[in-house]
Amino acid sequence: MTDLDRYHRQMRLPGIGAEGQARLGRGSVFIAGCGALGTVAADLLGRAGVGTLVIADRDLVEPTNLQRQTLFTERDASRSTPKAEAARLRLAQANSNVRVRAFVEEIDSGTIESLAEGCDLILDGLDNFETRYLLNDFAVATGVPYLYGAGVATQGMSMPVLSRRGPGASATIRWNEAEATPCLRCLFPTPPPAGSTPTCDTAGVLGSVTMTVAAHQATQAIKLLVGDVAAVDRSLRSFDLWTNVNRALGISESTDPDCPCCVRGRFEHLDAPASATRILCGRNAVQIRSEAGDDEIDLDAVADRLAELGTVEAVDGSIRGRLRGERSPDGGPVSVVVFSDGRAIIEGGTDPDWARGVFDRVVGR
Ligand SMILES: [Zn+2]
Repeated sequence: MTDLDRYHRQMRLPGIGAEGQARLGRGSVFIAGCGALGTVAADLLGRAGVGTLVIADRDLVEPTNLQRQTLFTERDASRSTPKAEAARLRLAQANSNVRVRAFVEEIDSGTIESLAEGCDLILDGLDNFETRYLLNDFAVATGVPYLYGAGVATQGMSMPVLSRRGPGASATIRWNEAEATPCLRCLFPTPPPAGSTPTCDTAGVLGSVTMTVAAHQATQAIKLLVGDVAAVDRSLRSFDLWTNVNRALGISESTDPDCPCCVRGRFEHLDAPASATRILCGRNAVQIRSEAGDDEIDLDAVADRLAELGTVEAVDGSIRGRLRGERSPDGGPVSVVVFSDGRAIIEGGTDPDWARGVFDRVVGR
């Protein structure tokens, strides 16, 4: 199949053409998180012929994902396939010319540099503010565009960050002072307290909402990759698909003249050490990262210990088990998933101390 066969309909667009298509083919996008936003954006960009997609997601496909996370199937959910890996396999079926690099990893201050290295831009497919501030810091510090997006219930938001500090020395996407935008911290100076904002678990979410957000992000990515920076929607676009409200918050209204990140150049989230423990609220689980480092996890030994404690199963490079007779503080059954990168997800409760105890028994200190 030639490029003209495959991409004919978008190459007819004046903004793309043969030159734009070639630029897309040379482009690379870091998709941070592969859930409702990440799957849709990756699908659109992969089918559009973006040369390289780097996808990072720490989590596994679950049945509740299927309503909106378009790259996943019932089989992925029943096997609890890691999202990044399931996405890679599905994208290869849609467009085998696209190079997809999948990482089943946590995105934090310790991993962001190696994950996003060499990518032309960062597309936000996350579900938590903490990591969004990290992406914002990284994008502003290295001078690559960051495409923020979020959706919950019937509302969505999307905004590009083209930092006022300008593009990095080696960045392929260039913009001038007049094209620059505020950063995420200009708009939201501090992360909202944990648990204070509605999530998809508590408030629900319409699949068409996250799809609309991801479509806007993917369009912005295509404009940037083909070099049409002037066409980028440089506003905080927000909408409610149920009440039919659309808003675009202009840049002058939201730029902080004293922003710690994009004016002062303080990258607090990038400089902070990665936390070893993270509560995964929507999953009733706690994630713990081994302090030993990822090279030192012996998955065979973990499987042996799990076999003594209950059931054990190896799936797609991870080890899963259910602890026989064990109850979480909430009284529910306890399951463990251990990844080769040294992370474990302890399922059944959200108490970090309890989870740490299970982790020490199964993975070791
Ligand atoms: Zn800022």
